[in-house]
Amino acid sequence: MAGSTLLGVGAALADLVLPRTCAGCGLPGRSVCGGCAALLAAPQPAQPRRFPTGLPPTVAAGAYAGPVRPLVNAFKEHGRAELARPLGAALALAVAAVRLGSLHPAAPVVLVPVPASRAALRARGRDHVRELATRAVVELRAAGVPAEQRRLLRRRGRVRDSAGLAPAQRRANLAGSFVPDPGAAAPPGGALLVLVDDVVTTGATLCEAARVLDEGASPGCGPVLAAVVAATPRPSGAAPGAPAGPARYRLRTVHGTDLDRLSGPGGRD
Ligand SMILES: [Zn+2]
Repeated sequence: MAGSTLLGVGAALADLVLPRTCAGCGLPGRSVCGGCAALLAAPQPAQPRRFPTGLPPTVAAGAYAGPVRPLVNAFKEHGRAELARPLGAALALAVAAVRLGSLHPAAPVVLVPVPASRAALRARGRDHVRELATRAVVELRAAGVPAEQRRLLRRRGRVRDSAGLAPAQRRANLAGSFVPDPGAAAPPGGALLVLVDDVVTTGATLCEAARVLDEGASPGCGPVLAAVVAATPRPSGAAPGAPAGPARYRLRTVHGTDLDRLSGPGGRD
């Protein structure tokens, strides 16, 4: 039996014996309550505090704040596998939004998961970003968006844990850490390459991954875009709705379009 199937069975059994609570706020009932789901159904351009040069146009389904933090971490660090579905739906919403705002809003999308470091893979025993990308592809296809996942990047060498490093140190730490995966099939011409990750904080990881994709991507693919479940919000004081840095990415809403089915994680428990 495949590991993922075992995980699914485990989650189903846990549902039978454990009272389920919202992974964000602890409310009894569903694994993501309506209030927390709504926090991941408000796609916005990610706006790191110091907007890094080279950050691809990036949309987040919500802010990495309040109950969204324990919600994401319950999936990432604490093995709550049932959250793949709602968080994958949130990621799909962010992908749809970044595609709609691009120069090719009807193009097929190729989701490129940011690869996990070897240390993270060892520690977690799984690649949670790939799991989210897989679920997001299912959601996008169900909404009529031609979507697939390709692992176009690999990690190279050892990278220090970037927690606690200043932005410049993070970039130096990450430089050269991604390489094109020579075994990956080239993406179809005309597809939008969308890097996907769980959370964006400083943007350093997305910058480095986008740079390598841009240099190694097959001809015919436009500029690299990015979508994440959640983005660290700008500190209070930054004007809401301020331009999203030099990329000047303009977001168009998916609501009221054919993509309205992608309304985020609500009701996908
Ligand atoms: Zn909740």
